[in-house]
Amino acid sequence: THFGYKDVKPDEKEKMVAGVFHSVADSYDVMNDLMSMGVHRLWKRFTIELSAVRKGHQVLDIAGGTGDLTKQFSRLVGDTGRVVLADINESMLRVGRDRLIDQGIVGNVEYVQANAECLPFPENTFDCITIAFGLRNVTDKAEALRSMCRVLKPGGRLLVLEFSKTNNPLLTKVYDTYSFSLLPAMGKLVAGDSESYRYLAESIRKHPDQKTLEAMMKEAGFVNTTYHNMTGGIVALHKGIKP
Ligand code: SAM
Repeated sequence: THFGYKDVKPDEKEKMVAGVFHSVADSYDVMNDLMSMGVHRLWKRFTIELSAVRKGHQVLDIAGGTGDLTKQFSRLVGDTGRVVLADINESMLRVGRDRLIDQGIVGNVEYVQANAECLPFPENTFDCITIAFGLRNVTDKAEALRSMCRVLKPGGRLLVLEFSKTNNPLLTKVYDTYSFSLLPAMGKLVAGDSESYRYLAESIRKHPDQKTLEAMMKEAGFVNTTYHNMTGGIVALHKGIKP
């Protein structure tokens, strides 16, 4: 395509994603608020509500980035629980860790550099796993979903918060214009980097829609799968249980 990202090979995709997140790590939080006009906070709040995480739970926030979800989970699990913030990218992990420590979020949070495709934890470890705006960056999504299922405890839940497909043609039009014109321009202005934000827009468009992702979760071994559309389907929250 004119964006040049359409036909990248898997190993190239991994390098490109690494480059994108090294490049945006420092401006990530500001851009998140700007690009979503603050609404990502609501999407994340709903994710926390649906997680049913409580005192003593073991939680994995994979692709956790700068730690928005980890911060909330840390409060919920208390000192008898544990939250693992895992991310493949050391720049994002460093920014996240520094930010949480600065906010006094310490004691029950661990930081692990890990690829969602091969999680370095024993089977049946976690009560809850979240992956927020991360799955679309993963090269082998099926492998990642299987890996998450493996490290969840039986009865544990996976929550996937991700951009999805809008169900309203007008909204789709507005949204496409926004993400392919305004978003890269904002990226350039605020973060000095339009390419990275163009990649983000492209990765959103290529991500599987609601039904496809639900089918992938079933295929990976999850049961009782459901999803909730938010903001007209711009974002969806998928839930699945490990049997
Ligand atoms: N979860 C955070 C949030 O909602 O604000 C961060 C989301 S950020 C858009 C996506 C994150 O996914 C980045 O920090 C990136 O490094 C991470 N990531 C990309 N590919 C990954 C992989 N294969 N395994 C683990 N993390 C990955």
